[in-house]
Amino acid sequence: MKVLLSPTQLQDGIQQMADQISQHYQGRAITVVGILTGSLMLLADLIRMLDQPIRISLVEASSYHGTTTRGELTINPDLLSDIKGRDILLIDDIFDTGYTLQKVIRMIEDLQPNSVRSAVLLLKEGRQEVELRPDFVGFQIPDQFVVGYGLDYQDLFRNLPYVATLEPEDLSGEAE
Ligand code: 5GP
Ligand code: MG
Repeated sequence: MKVLLSPTQLQDGIQQMADQISQHYQGRAITVVGILTGSLMLLADLIRMLDQPIRISLVEASSYHGTTTRGELTINPDLLSDIKGRDILLIDDIFDTGYTLQKVIRMIEDLQPNSVRSAVLLLKEGRQEVELRPDFVGFQIPDQFVVGYGLDYQDLFRNLPYVATLEPEDLSGEAE
């Protein structure tokens, strides 16, 4: 594994993003909606850097990978609290093709919030397949598969305090 973003770099980038978010909302109350499971670390760290009143809510997004096609994306809103009329800030770990955030935003918009903005820790350069872009981005990274700080490989590595790229030897065999 090769460290791409150290814990210190992560905290600095998230602090900058938090400052932009605070400046945008000017002290207004917001509902931060974390997209499970990858956003957990960012959610926990980011909200502690914001100084306006914060509500927290969660939504689950998962894709089931078929053999040939892109996995079908499922959004589970069971954990989502009442967001009608609220100012929503969606949080995700990484913006890749963009389909996940696009689908979640459409689902949220159907619930009549006052506004919807989005913040992601990472944006993978050159991978986007949708028009949408996140409003706040921590870091732009090259097109490599990354793990750590919420991001997984086979549901492992989410707890790493840094973001790392996986080397070929990490990908072979069981990740134990
Ligand atoms: P998108 O829908 O934008 O293509 O993909 C977003 C989701 O794909 C992320 O929330 C994340 O779960 C997963 N993903 C995309 N790129 C990576 C990556 O490099 N590493 C990991 N661990 N997950 C990724
Ligand atoms: Mg995810």
